[in-house]
Amino acid sequence: MTEILGLHAFDDNYIWLLRGRGCVAAVDPGDAAPVLDYLEKSGDRLCAILATHHHGDHVGGLAEILARFPVPVFGPELENIPGVSHPLTGGERIELPELALHLDIIAVPGHTRGHIAYYGPSIDADGAVFCGDTLFGAGCGRLFEGTPAQMHESLAKLAVLPAPTLVYCAHEYTQSNLRFALAVEPGSIAVQRRSEHVAQDRAAGRATIPTSIRVELETNPFLRWDAPAVRAAAASRLGRVPLDAVETFTAIREWKNRF
Ligand code: ZN
Ligand code: FE
Repeated sequence: MTEILGLHAFDDNYIWLLRGRGCVAAVDPGDAAPVLDYLEKSGDRLCAILATHHHGDHVGGLAEILARFPVPVFGPELENIPGVSHPLTGGERIELPELALHLDIIAVPGHTRGHIAYYGPSIDADGAVFCGDTLFGAGCGRLFEGTPAQMHESLAKLAVLPAPTLVYCAHEYTQSNLRFALAVEPGSIAVQRRSEHVAQDRAAGRATIPTSIRVELETNPFLRWDAPAVRAAAASRLGRVPLDAVETFTAIREWKNRF
């Protein structure tokens, strides 16, 4: 069994730990301190690092961790990340023998040009995906290096994972994203309910992550390019009916940039 633990970093980052048999793999350690602290207190061994993309809040802790624990580092081949020993482009399957676990690599460019996600179909009963800054709770990452069409295609790859799949993104942005989701779909009972639920969680200091593909398909405007209400919202931004899903997605993403 693989257990998933979350460490807090900076204001709103999560560093996820995949844990089994006294070993952990750390996803996106932007800061070394919480990881080193965890290892010291738990007595667990570090067996690997998984990086989704090159931004400092995801890989800033690599050098300090590797100086203490020279473990394999998986990361995107297209991005120049010092310390990556196992470059990946998507489509590969990697093995983490210490955890008796394999992960499938999904290329999800858009936020950055080489961004990858790690999908573990055998984690928990439902599977889990570690998607960095691509899919967020009720949102998606900003397009720093890719096109809207690329991001749409990347999100579409995540959308077709089995609905119960748990989604472990790298930031706690769900509550503010839901304010935008409500503006896109003010009549959605699902978005209203989730907003109330998330407000309670945040007021009590609870994480809103993991979420699931099912919840995102119901409430995330960046996966709902086919929903009539989202198409209508895009149409009112564009001043005409969007030609296709990419145009709907693009209009919603541009609206969010200014929201
Ligand atoms: Zn980022
Ligand atoms: Fe980030």
